[in-house]
Amino acid sequence: MEKILEIKDLKKYYKDNKAVDGLNFDLYEGEILGLLGPNGAGKSTTINILSTILKAEGGTIKYFGKSLDSNRKYVKSQLGIVPQDLALYEDIAAYKNVEFFASLYGIKGEELKCNVLEALRFVGLEDKKDSKPKTFSGGMKRRLNIACAIAHKPKILILDEPTVGIDPQSRNHILESIKKLRKLGTTIIYTTHYMEEVEVISDRIVIMDKGRKIADGTILELLENYKNTRVYKIFIDNKSGQYNGKFDFLFKIEGIQKVSKEDNALCITTIKDIDNLDKIILKLIENKIKVSHMTSEEGNLEMVFLKLTGRNLRD
Ligand code: ADP
Ligand code: MG
Repeated sequence: MEKILEIKDLKKYYKDNKAVDGLNFDLYEGEILGLLGPNGAGKSTTINILSTILKAEGGTIKYFGKSLDSNRKYVKSQLGIVPQDLALYEDIAAYKNVEFFASLYGIKGEELKCNVLEALRFVGLEDKKDSKPKTFSGGMKRRLNIACAIAHKPKILILDEPTVGIDPQSRNHILESIKKLRKLGTTIIYTTHYMEEVEVISDRIVIMDKGRKIADGTILELLENYKNTRVYKIFIDNKSGQYNGKFDFLFKIEGIQKVSKEDNALCITTIKDIDNLDKIILKLIENKIKVSHMTSEEGNLEMVFLKLTGRNLRD
């Protein structure tokens, strides 16, 4: 696969705040790259630099093998950007919104009409083309925002958290549309803080934290060290706070690797193939610990993030 974007040592500081702090990653033609990181990781700042809205303080960006600075106009014509904050005209029809954004790229006449209708069809809003966005649900506005970004048929589409605060149906629609666009040949950067989304949508994942890349790979590569791991989260009834003791007794059970305590739950990391849940529960009962409920998870990106940063992705 051909490298179509190369980012090296990218930096953007807001006074002492290192929003982007020496970021490196590449984008390959035809892939969906999931850019995952908690709020404040620097994802939007990165996207805004990549889309030429913001200027970096340092580092280099090469699109299609040439530096962005020497090739700005061409790059802009090949990019579609779906910003984190909706950019729509609430009081003009959906069709006119898409038409406006597509016409900024110099598309005219019959081609413009075809592209606008195709983009609206693509996001499932063709029958709403004459309605105004102010009458739309949050999910429909997000979809219209995407239509505005794809009507000029960009080579690279960059989406910044396109599913925040919308209903599950619109979310699925958006994820499916993005996969379809990739099949049609668009290369995609998909930014989110939802681990579940990058897991289902990405060919490759870059995990960002505090302005830097902390991991990069396919989902299988990232989970390589966790494929034998299972985490039981056991919620204990601890209203009176009597279980503040140690949980060393659990380590006598075969397979257990780590035990940590959250407010009202124990997180027990264990080897996946060892059947030890009955023994865990029995030990807890023996120690007069009342279990209220529990969950069980196999290796996931949350665990990768926790291992690399010592924090939860969702914090
Ligand atoms: P993300 O998109 O991953 O949530 P952002 O790129 O929005 O992260 O922000 C990264 C950091 O930069 C945060 O600490 C944020 O508060 C800060 N930041 C972002 N934009 C500005 C700005 N215009 N002025 C000052 N600080 C900013
Ligand atoms: Mg953001």
